[in-house]
Amino acid sequence: MLSFAELDLIDPLLDALEDEGYTTPTPIQAEAIPALFEGRDLLGIAQTGTGKTAAFSLPVLQLLWESKRPGPRRVRALVTSPTRELAAQIGERFQAYGAHLDMRTTVIFGGVGQGPQVDALRSGVDILVATPGRLLDLHNQGHVNLSHVEFLVLDEADRMLDMGFIHDIRKLIALLPEKRQNLLFSATMPAGIAQLAGTLLRRPLRVEVTPESTPVERIGQTVMLVPQAHKRSLLSHLLTHNDIGRALVFTRTKHGANRVVKHLDGAGIGAAAIHGNKSQGARTKALDGFKDGSLRVLVATDVAARGIDVDGITHVINFDLPHPAETYVHRIGRTARAGAEGQAISFCDETEAEYLRAIERLTRQRLPVDDQQPWHEPSVLRAAPPPPEVRRPRPGRGQPSGGVRRPPQRRR
Ligand code: AMP
Repeated sequence: MLSFAELDLIDPLLDALEDEGYTTPTPIQAEAIPALFEGRDLLGIAQTGTGKTAAFSLPVLQLLWESKRPGPRRVRALVTSPTRELAAQIGERFQAYGAHLDMRTTVIFGGVGQGPQVDALRSGVDILVATPGRLLDLHNQGHVNLSHVEFLVLDEADRMLDMGFIHDIRKLIALLPEKRQNLLFSATMPAGIAQLAGTLLRRPLRVEVTPESTPVERIGQTVMLVPQAHKRSLLSHLLTHNDIGRALVFTRTKHGANRVVKHLDGAGIGAAAIHGNKSQGARTKALDGFKDGSLRVLVATDVAARGIDVDGITHVINFDLPHPAETYVHRIGRTARAGAEGQAISFCDETEAEYLRAIERLTRQRLPVDDQQPWHEPSVLRAAPPPPEVRRPRPGRGQPSGGVRRPPQRRR
């Protein structure tokens, strides 16, 4: 297998990778890094967990470093992200990988005062990571000069489309110099993104890793059938009696997230919620606690959880089943990162049988029921019989390529 040194990375980057404990490039890194060194544009169809951030930040750091000139720092690489959490994480990655290089990364996003961001921009920046709205705002106020940008990275482009940022992105692109290298990453390719890629990228290398509907192989998946009224008790039971190291719990609503945290607190289990109604300070505090291990359980809504990049999440617990079903794949992809194994446990109550069926149709597998829990209630499924295409899987069909690790199947 290829090593990072064989990808022609310079020593300061190799040292940083060693500090991070990375030994071998992930597939997207092995493909993207040489192409970016050749000056090519890139279309990366990949979700978080594939190592896509290093696939773009390592070559961008190296190319900027090798062409660095004396004089004031100017924004030469612009990375856009749909959410502040993802922007902050990308910024952290640039800092970690560039730890042995004299390169400055700044992150700007909305929802917080702009003063410190303006100060950082004024003191000189090489790499700017930003959410589109705040970036345009600061540009309109004359605080950002984008006329020296040589690299544009659009991360999670499909999310930007979902969140209505595509016009802002087009406006930003119009502000950039013509001559630059463009990288676009997206987990899916809806028409709006394919169109954007078509106009933005010149003869791009297309790298596709893990098709959207195939959950990561190493994730063990189960469903627990439980009446709605007992979900919270089941959650605290699992966290007390099972070997759960670090759990990310998903709820459908912000209110639901708060209620779960309150219940867990009452049961003596340290937990915090992150969602859109929390201040930036509270979200950062919760994420930091989760990362450093002082907080075992983070309860999040889907929007807040986008791009959460925390290693060592042993369990993803779907307290509420997601809808639409694609969200299931995004959620469970938060565990089993970077070679580790992970478990995804989904609670299904009497109102959610339909959602379970939709997930089973999308992932083309039947989720095994774990009935080893005190509130097991098979009748919650009565509301929706299994669809014919997953009821009787034929040998050799109905299984995503690569297979999914499945605990022994139990009868419903
Ligand atoms: P990403 O897909 O960029 O969100 O990265 C997923 C996770 O994998 C992050 O926690 C990275 O720190 C980690 N990672 C990225 N590249 C490697 C690698 N080559 N070896 C081990 N871990 C990696």
